Amino acid sequence: MNAEPITLSTYAMATRFELVMYGDDPIRLRAAGEEALQEIELLDKQLSLYRPESDISWINAHAAEGPVRVEPQLFSLLRLAYNISVSTEGAFDITITPLLRAWGLAGGAGRVPAESELAQALDVSGMHRVILDDAGFTVQYEKPGVEIDLGAIGKGYAIERAVEILVEHGVASALLHGGTSTVYGIGAMPDGKPWKIAIRHPVDELLKETVDLYNSSLAVSAVHGKFFEADGRKYGHIIDPRTGKPAGDTSLTAVWGPSPACCDALSTAILVLGKDWLPEMRKKFTGYEGLVVRQPG
Ligand code: AMP
Ligand code: MG
Repeated sequence: MNAEPITLSTYAMATRFELVMYGDDPIRLRAAGEEALQEIELLDKQLSLYRPESDISWINAHAAEGPVRVEPQLFSLLRLAYNISVSTEGAFDITITPLLRAWGLAGGAGRVPAESELAQALDVSGMHRVILDDAGFTVQYEKPGVEIDLGAIGKGYAIERAVEILVEHGVASALLHGGTSTVYGIGAMPDGKPWKIAIRHPVDELLKETVDLYNSSLAVSAVHGKFFEADGRKYGHIIDPRTGKPAGDTSLTAVWGPSPACCDALSTAILVLGKDWLPEMRKKFTGYEGLVVRQPG
């Protein structure tokens, strides 16, 4: 095997995706890697809430008028998001967009909304307001104002699709990450050992947790990833759908297991649900493990 890795990167989903591959044939590796990164760029265009021409923007604009037919793979992603929402007691919820907007967290600088605004946003959020038809591949919203955002699962899903491409092309040893928040290790490192990933503690640099990846994924969600301050308080970018307010008690979560899309969604859900939900996660999602770091104080 070539000792020198092939390294590629791209900017998508407001973050940097990086890919490191080992193997004997650098030309084939590079071609596979470029195709995988192109797929991530395409998914960004399809899934972004912030691109007016994306499928998600189209769905958000039209699904309250009647059923909107979506491309089968996107439909499967919406179905997955729906099912994870049900399995996480609503903690993972792609309908939080009106709440994100109320909190100024959808591309804004952040602000505390009035109670009435919050009530209005809650009135148009909740996964039960999204009707999926598995036979017709359609999505429909219960009423105007409902909007979905795949921000908590999109990066993981993009990595999942990229990994499929790499594996199809015979890539057997690679590490791929999106903004360091979702990582996937294909096979093992060139020395045969699993990919070792360190999770940096949000407060104490010395408290480092490491996770081994071998054909598996790790996703991290953190309040310090994106937050704003008001009235001497920090408000994070992850909303507790039950209250409509930014989740407060937990500062960092990590979930590892087979599917990067599931790890991504679950790390967000655990940030809402807290440490006590970990045993429930292990029961419902076989093969997944997680850790929770509480907010200091
Ligand atoms: P992540 O960094 O994967 O935890 O995703 C956080 C992003 O997902 C936020 O910036 C929002 O766009 C969106 N989001 C916030 N709260 C939730 C939630 N409870 N369920 C699903 N997505 C959320
Ligand atoms: Mg996530």
